[in-house]
Amino acid sequence: MGTADRPDALGRLSIVIPVFNEVSIIRQSWERLRQLPGLVDREIEIVLVDDGSTDGTTEILESIASATWPGITVRLQIFSRNFGHSAAVLAGLQVATGDPVAILDADLQDPPELLPQMLSALQSGDCDVVYGKRIRRAGESLFKRATAWAFYRLWNRLVGVAIPADTGDFRLMTRQVCAAVLRCGENDPFLRGLVSWVGFRQKAFPYVRDPRTSGRSKYTLGRMLDFAGMAVISFSTRPLRLALYLGLLGLFAGLLLGGWACWCWIIGSTVRGWASLLAGLSLVQSFTLLLVGIQGLYIARIHEEAKDRPRFIVRKDSAGHTESTG
Ligand code: UDP
Ligand code: MG
Repeated sequence: MGTADRPDALGRLSIVIPVFNEVSIIRQSWERLRQLPGLVDREIEIVLVDDGSTDGTTEILESIASATWPGITVRLQIFSRNFGHSAAVLAGLQVATGDPVAILDADLQDPPELLPQMLSALQSGDCDVVYGKRIRRAGESLFKRATAWAFYRLWNRLVGVAIPADTGDFRLMTRQVCAAVLRCGENDPFLRGLVSWVGFRQKAFPYVRDPRTSGRSKYTLGRMLDFAGMAVISFSTRPLRLALYLGLLGLFAGLLLGGWACWCWIIGSTVRGWASLLAGLSLVQSFTLLLVGIQGLYIARIHEEAKDRPRFIVRKDSAGHTESTG
Protein backbone atom coordinates (compact mmCIF):
# COMPACT_ATOMS: atom_id res chain seq x y z
CA MET A 1 0.00 0.00 0.00
CA GLY A 2 1.39 3.45 -0.95
CA THR A 3 1.89 6.10 1.66
CA ALA A 4 -0.67 8.28 -0.06
CA ASP A 5 -3.29 5.80 1.08
CA ARG A 6 -2.12 6.44 4.62
CA PRO A 7 -1.87 10.21 4.79
CA ASP A 8 -0.92 10.16 8.46
CA ALA A 9 2.13 8.09 7.52
CA LEU A 10 3.91 11.03 5.87
CA GLY A 11 7.14 11.22 7.75
CA ARG A 12 10.41 13.04 7.42
CA LEU A 13 10.39 15.67 4.67
CA SER A 14 13.33 15.52 2.27
CA ILE A 15 14.15 18.57 0.16
CA VAL A 16 16.43 18.10 -2.83
CA ILE A 17 18.25 21.24 -3.97
CA PRO A 18 20.49 21.32 -7.06
CA VAL A 19 23.11 24.06 -6.81
CA PHE A 20 25.39 25.38 -9.53
CA ASN A 21 27.45 28.55 -9.11
CA GLU A 22 25.10 30.32 -6.72
CA VAL A 23 27.72 32.06 -4.57
CA SER A 24 25.83 35.34 -4.51
CA ILE A 25 22.60 33.88 -3.19
CA ILE A 26 23.27 30.60 -1.42
CA ARG A 27 23.76 32.08 2.08
CA GLN A 28 20.56 34.07 1.76
CA SER A 29 18.78 30.94 0.58
CA TRP A 30 20.09 28.96 3.50
CA GLU A 31 18.84 31.64 5.94
CA ARG A 32 15.33 31.02 4.63
CA LEU A 33 15.67 27.25 4.49
CA ARG A 34 16.81 26.97 8.08
CA GLN A 35 13.54 28.56 9.21
CA LEU A 36 11.60 25.61 7.81
CA PRO A 37 11.55 23.45 10.97
CA GLY A 38 9.49 26.21 12.60
CA LEU A 39 6.94 26.03 9.78
CA VAL A 40 6.75 22.31 9.16
CA ASP A 41 5.78 19.99 11.92
CA ARG A 42 8.19 17.20 11.05
CA GLU A 43 11.83 16.25 10.71
CA ILE A 44 13.59 17.77 7.70
CA GLU A 45 16.39 16.39 5.55
CA ILE A 46 17.97 18.77 3.08
CA VAL A 47 19.95 17.16 0.27
CA LEU A 48 22.23 19.69 -1.38
CA VAL A 49 23.76 18.63 -4.67
CA ASP A 50 26.64 20.76 -5.86
CA ASP A 51 26.65 20.40 -9.63
CA GLY A 52 30.33 21.20 -10.18
CA SER A 53 30.34 24.82 -8.96
CA THR A 54 33.53 26.76 -9.57
CA ASP A 55 32.72 30.08 -7.90
CA GLY A 56 33.17 29.28 -4.22
CA THR A 57 29.65 27.87 -3.71
CA THR A 58 31.14 24.47 -2.83
CA GLU A 59 33.02 25.85 0.19
CA ILE A 60 29.87 27.53 1.50
CA LEU A 61 27.88 24.31 1.07
CA GLU A 62 30.59 22.36 2.87
CA SER A 63 30.47 24.72 5.82
CA ILE A 64 26.67 24.39 5.93
CA ALA A 65 26.89 20.60 5.81
CA SER A 66 29.48 20.38 8.56
CA ALA A 67 27.48 22.54 11.01
CA THR A 68 24.52 21.34 13.06
CA TRP A 69 21.10 22.84 12.51
CA PRO A 70 18.13 22.41 14.82
CA GLY A 71 15.53 20.15 13.20
CA ILE A 72 17.52 19.72 9.96
CA THR A 73 19.82 16.97 8.72
CA VAL A 74 21.98 18.13 5.83
CA ARG A 75 23.43 15.82 3.23
CA LEU A 76 25.82 17.24 0.65
CA GLN A 77 26.89 15.62 -2.59
CA ILE A 78 29.55 17.28 -4.70
CA PHE A 79 29.79 16.34 -8.38
CA SER A 80 33.13 15.89 -10.11
CA ARG A 81 32.01 18.47 -12.72
CA ASN A 82 28.83 20.11 -14.02
CA PHE A 83 26.40 17.40 -15.13
CA GLY A 84 23.28 19.56 -15.46
CA HIS A 85 20.19 20.31 -13.43
CA SER A 86 18.37 17.00 -14.07
CA ALA A 87 21.38 14.89 -13.08
CA ALA A 88 21.73 16.91 -9.88
CA VAL A 89 18.08 16.45 -8.97
CA LEU A 90 18.27 12.70 -9.69
CA ALA A 91 21.36 12.35 -7.52
CA GLY A 92 19.47 14.05 -4.71
CA LEU A 93 16.36 11.91 -5.17
CA GLN A 94 18.54 8.80 -5.02
CA VAL A 95 19.95 9.55 -1.61
CA ALA A 96 16.92 11.26 -0.06
CA THR A 97 15.52 9.11 2.71
CA GLY A 98 12.34 10.99 3.58
CA ASP A 99 8.74 10.63 2.55
CA PRO A 100 7.60 12.88 0.93
CA VAL A 101 10.38 14.39 -1.16
CA ALA A 102 10.39 17.97 -2.45
CA ILE A 103 12.44 19.50 -5.28
CA LEU A 104 13.46 23.12 -4.84
CA ASP A 105 15.80 25.51 -6.69
CA ALA A 106 18.71 27.02 -4.82
CA ASP A 107 17.79 30.55 -5.89
CA LEU A 108 14.48 30.25 -4.03
CA GLN A 109 12.42 31.47 -6.97
CA ASP A 110 10.04 28.82 -5.69
CA PRO A 111 9.39 29.91 -2.09
CA PRO A 112 10.12 27.16 0.48
CA GLU A 113 7.55 28.81 2.77
CA LEU A 114 4.88 27.24 0.54
CA LEU A 115 5.95 23.73 1.52
CA PRO A 116 3.67 23.53 4.60
CA GLN A 117 0.61 24.21 2.41
CA MET A 118 1.82 21.73 -0.19
CA LEU A 119 2.32 19.16 2.56
CA SER A 120 -1.26 19.68 3.74
CA ALA A 121 -2.48 19.17 0.17
CA LEU A 122 -0.53 15.92 -0.04
CA GLN A 123 -1.61 14.88 3.40
CA SER A 124 -5.27 15.35 2.60
CA GLY A 125 -4.74 12.00 0.94
CA ASP A 126 -6.24 12.27 -2.52
CA CYS A 127 -2.99 12.76 -4.41
CA ASP A 128 0.59 11.51 -4.67
CA VAL A 129 2.21 14.56 -6.27
CA VAL A 130 1.62 18.22 -5.56
CA TYR A 131 3.22 20.32 -8.29
CA GLY A 132 3.73 24.04 -8.30
CA LYS A 133 1.82 25.78 -11.08
CA ARG A 134 3.05 29.28 -11.81
CA ILE A 135 0.12 31.65 -12.01
CA ARG A 136 2.56 34.51 -12.40
CA ARG A 137 6.30 34.68 -12.92
CA ALA A 138 7.46 37.85 -11.27
CA GLY A 139 10.55 39.57 -12.65
CA GLU A 140 11.12 37.25 -15.62
CA SER A 141 11.56 38.68 -19.08
CA LEU A 142 8.70 38.70 -21.57
CA PHE A 143 10.86 36.53 -23.82
CA LYS A 144 11.37 33.86 -21.14
CA ARG A 145 7.67 33.84 -20.29
CA ALA A 146 6.67 33.69 -23.96
CA THR A 147 9.03 30.81 -24.79
CA ALA A 148 7.92 28.88 -21.70
CA TRP A 149 4.27 29.48 -22.64
CA ALA A 150 4.88 28.27 -26.22
CA PHE A 151 6.86 25.25 -25.06
CA TYR A 152 4.10 23.84 -22.87
CA ARG A 153 1.44 24.31 -25.55
CA LEU A 154 3.62 22.82 -28.27
CA TRP A 155 4.61 19.92 -26.05
CA ASN A 156 1.04 19.00 -25.26
CA ARG A 157 0.21 18.95 -28.98
CA LEU A 158 3.29 16.99 -29.97
CA VAL A 159 3.76 14.51 -27.15
CA GLY A 160 1.34 11.87 -25.95
CA VAL A 161 2.27 12.39 -22.29
CA ALA A 162 0.62 15.63 -21.24
CA ILE A 163 2.49 17.76 -18.76
CA PRO A 164 0.57 20.45 -16.98
CA ALA A 165 1.28 23.89 -18.44
CA ASP A 166 3.37 26.40 -16.52
CA THR A 167 4.97 23.99 -14.09
CA GLY A 168 8.64 23.67 -13.29
CA ASP A 169 10.38 21.12 -11.14
CA PHE A 170 9.03 22.59 -7.90
CA ARG A 171 6.99 19.74 -6.49
CA LEU A 172 6.34 17.46 -3.59
CA MET A 173 5.95 13.74 -4.14
CA THR A 174 5.57 10.61 -2.11
CA ARG A 175 8.41 8.13 -1.84
CA GLN A 176 6.47 5.76 -4.06
CA VAL A 177 6.43 8.31 -6.91
CA CYS A 178 10.08 9.15 -6.30
CA ALA A 179 10.99 5.45 -6.60
CA ALA A 180 9.00 5.16 -9.84
CA VAL A 181 10.84 8.17 -11.32
CA LEU A 182 14.18 6.71 -10.32
CA ARG A 183 13.37 3.47 -12.11
CA CYS A 184 13.44 5.36 -15.43
CA GLY A 185 17.11 4.89 -16.15
CA GLU A 186 17.50 7.10 -19.20
CA ASN A 187 20.42 9.43 -19.70
CA ASP A 188 19.73 13.15 -19.55
CA PRO A 189 16.10 12.74 -18.50
CA PHE A 190 13.42 15.40 -18.84
CA LEU A 191 12.38 15.27 -15.22
CA ARG A 192 9.03 17.02 -15.22
CA GLY A 193 8.03 14.86 -18.18
CA LEU A 194 9.00 11.72 -16.27
CA VAL A 195 7.04 12.76 -13.20
CA SER A 196 3.96 13.08 -15.44
CA TRP A 197 4.77 9.87 -17.30
CA VAL A 198 4.85 7.73 -14.13
CA GLY A 199 1.22 8.65 -13.56
CA PHE A 200 -0.27 8.60 -10.03
CA ARG A 201 -2.65 11.21 -8.76
CA GLN A 202 -1.26 14.68 -9.31
CA LYS A 203 -2.60 17.94 -8.04
CA ALA A 204 -1.72 21.51 -9.00
CA PHE A 205 -0.66 24.04 -6.42
CA PRO A 206 -0.97 27.58 -7.85
CA TYR A 207 1.72 30.02 -6.76
CA VAL A 208 3.57 33.14 -7.83
CA ARG A 209 7.14 32.44 -8.91
CA ASP A 210 9.45 35.00 -7.37
CA PRO A 211 12.16 36.80 -9.33
CA ARG A 212 15.76 35.76 -8.88
CA THR A 213 17.16 38.23 -6.36
CA SER A 214 20.79 37.60 -7.20
CA GLY A 215 22.99 35.69 -9.63
CA ARG A 216 21.99 34.75 -13.15
CA SER A 217 19.73 32.11 -14.68
CA LYS A 218 21.80 29.23 -16.08
CA TYR A 219 19.27 28.80 -18.85
CA THR A 220 20.39 30.98 -21.72
CA LEU A 221 18.48 30.92 -25.03
CA GLY A 222 20.77 28.23 -26.51
CA ARG A 223 20.47 26.05 -23.43
CA MET A 224 16.70 26.46 -23.36
CA LEU A 225 16.41 25.41 -27.01
CA ASP A 226 18.64 22.36 -26.37
CA PHE A 227 16.57 21.53 -23.35
CA ALA A 228 13.27 21.80 -25.24
CA GLY A 229 14.61 19.71 -28.16
CA MET A 230 15.97 17.03 -25.84
CA ALA A 231 12.70 16.94 -23.95
CA VAL A 232 10.57 16.39 -27.06
CA ILE A 233 12.93 13.81 -28.56
CA SER A 234 13.09 11.76 -25.38
CA PHE A 235 9.30 11.60 -25.17
CA SER A 236 7.95 11.54 -28.69
CA THR A 237 8.66 9.92 -32.05
CA ARG A 238 6.14 12.16 -33.77
CA PRO A 239 8.81 14.38 -35.38
CA LEU A 240 10.05 11.25 -37.19
CA ARG A 241 6.64 10.79 -38.76
CA LEU A 242 7.01 14.23 -40.26
CA ALA A 243 9.07 12.60 -43.03
CA LEU A 244 6.11 10.50 -44.01
CA TYR A 245 3.70 13.43 -44.08
CA LEU A 246 6.09 15.65 -46.02
CA GLY A 247 6.80 12.79 -48.42
CA LEU A 248 3.08 12.34 -49.10
CA LEU A 249 2.63 16.07 -49.52
CA GLY A 250 5.57 16.16 -51.96
CA LEU A 251 4.12 13.25 -53.93
CA PHE A 252 0.77 14.97 -54.21
CA ALA A 253 2.36 18.27 -55.28
CA GLY A 254 4.57 16.41 -57.80
CA LEU A 255 1.57 14.66 -59.35
CA LEU A 256 -0.31 17.94 -59.65
CA LEU A 257 2.69 19.63 -61.23
CA GLY A 258 3.20 16.70 -63.64
CA GLY A 259 -0.47 16.81 -64.64
CA TRP A 260 -0.26 20.53 -65.24
CA ALA A 261 2.90 20.11 -67.40
CA CYS A 262 1.14 17.42 -69.47
CA TRP A 263 -1.90 19.64 -69.89
CA CYS A 264 0.30 22.52 -71.09
CA TRP A 265 1.99 20.16 -73.59
CA ILE A 266 -1.40 19.00 -74.88
CA ILE A 267 -2.71 22.51 -75.40
CA GLY A 268 0.57 23.46 -77.04
CA SER A 269 2.05 25.92 -74.55
CA THR A 270 5.42 24.86 -73.12
CA VAL A 271 6.18 25.02 -69.41
CA ARG A 272 8.68 27.82 -68.93
CA GLY A 273 10.92 29.03 -66.15
CA TRP A 274 14.00 27.33 -64.71
CA ALA A 275 13.74 29.63 -61.64
CA SER A 276 10.55 28.00 -60.43
CA LEU A 277 12.14 24.60 -61.01
CA LEU A 278 15.16 25.58 -58.97
CA ALA A 279 13.00 26.96 -56.16
CA GLY A 280 11.01 23.73 -56.06
CA LEU A 281 14.18 21.65 -56.01
CA SER A 282 15.79 23.59 -53.22
CA LEU A 283 12.58 23.39 -51.20
CA VAL A 284 12.52 19.60 -51.54
CA GLN A 285 16.23 19.43 -50.76
CA SER A 286 15.83 21.48 -47.58
CA PHE A 287 12.96 19.23 -46.46
CA THR A 288 15.27 16.26 -46.96
CA LEU A 289 18.05 17.87 -44.95
CA LEU A 290 15.61 18.86 -42.22
CA LEU A 291 14.40 15.29 -41.91
CA VAL A 292 17.92 13.87 -41.94
CA GLY A 293 18.69 16.35 -39.15
CA ILE A 294 15.70 15.20 -37.10
CA GLN A 295 16.71 11.57 -37.56
CA GLY A 296 20.24 12.56 -36.57
CA LEU A 297 18.95 13.90 -33.26
CA TYR A 298 17.31 10.58 -32.50
CA ILE A 299 20.44 8.67 -33.50
CA ALA A 300 22.52 10.93 -31.26
CA ARG A 301 20.16 10.13 -28.42
CA ILE A 302 20.46 6.38 -29.06
CA HIS A 303 24.22 6.81 -29.20
CA GLU A 304 24.22 8.53 -25.80
CA GLU A 305 22.09 5.77 -24.29
CA ALA A 306 24.19 3.01 -25.88
CA LYS A 307 27.34 4.34 -24.21
CA ASP A 308 25.59 3.73 -20.91
CA ARG A 309 27.80 6.16 -19.03
CA PRO A 310 26.79 7.21 -15.53
CA ARG A 311 24.46 10.19 -15.39
CA PHE A 312 26.71 11.88 -12.86
CA ILE A 313 29.83 11.27 -10.81
CA VAL A 314 29.98 12.26 -7.16
CA ARG A 315 33.37 13.48 -6.04
CA LYS A 316 32.47 13.86 -2.40
CA ASP A 317 29.49 12.89 -0.29
CA SER A 318 28.96 14.17 3.23
CA ALA A 319 27.69 10.70 4.16
CA GLY A 320 31.26 9.52 3.76
CA HIS A 321 31.28 7.67 0.42
CA THR A 322 33.35 9.16 -2.35
CA GLU A 323 33.24 8.74 -6.11
CA SER A 324 29.82 7.17 -6.40
CA THR A 325 28.01 7.28 -9.73
CA GLY A 326 24.43 7.03 -10.86
N1 UDP B 1 21.38 24.28 -11.73
C1 UDP B 1 22.17 23.13 -11.62
N2 UDP B 1 22.94 22.77 -12.69
C2 UDP B 1 22.94 23.45 -13.86
C3 UDP B 1 22.10 24.59 -13.97
C4 UDP B 1 21.32 24.97 -12.90
O1 UDP B 1 22.19 22.48 -10.58
O2 UDP B 1 23.67 23.07 -14.77
C5 UDP B 1 20.55 24.68 -10.58
C6 UDP B 1 20.65 26.14 -10.18
O3 UDP B 1 21.70 26.37 -9.26
C7 UDP B 1 19.29 26.40 -9.56
C8 UDP B 1 18.37 25.49 -10.38
O4 UDP B 1 19.20 24.49 -10.96
O5 UDP B 1 19.25 25.97 -8.22
C9 UDP B 1 17.59 26.24 -11.43
O6 UDP B 1 18.48 26.95 -12.27
P1 UDP B 1 18.20 28.44 -12.78
O7 UDP B 1 17.71 29.28 -11.66
O8 UDP B 1 19.41 28.91 -13.50
O9 UDP B 1 17.02 28.18 -13.83
P2 UDP B 1 15.71 29.09 -14.07
O10 UDP B 1 15.08 29.31 -12.73
O11 UDP B 1 16.19 30.35 -14.68
O12 UDP B 1 14.87 28.26 -14.98
MG1 MG C 1 16.00 30.15 -11.12
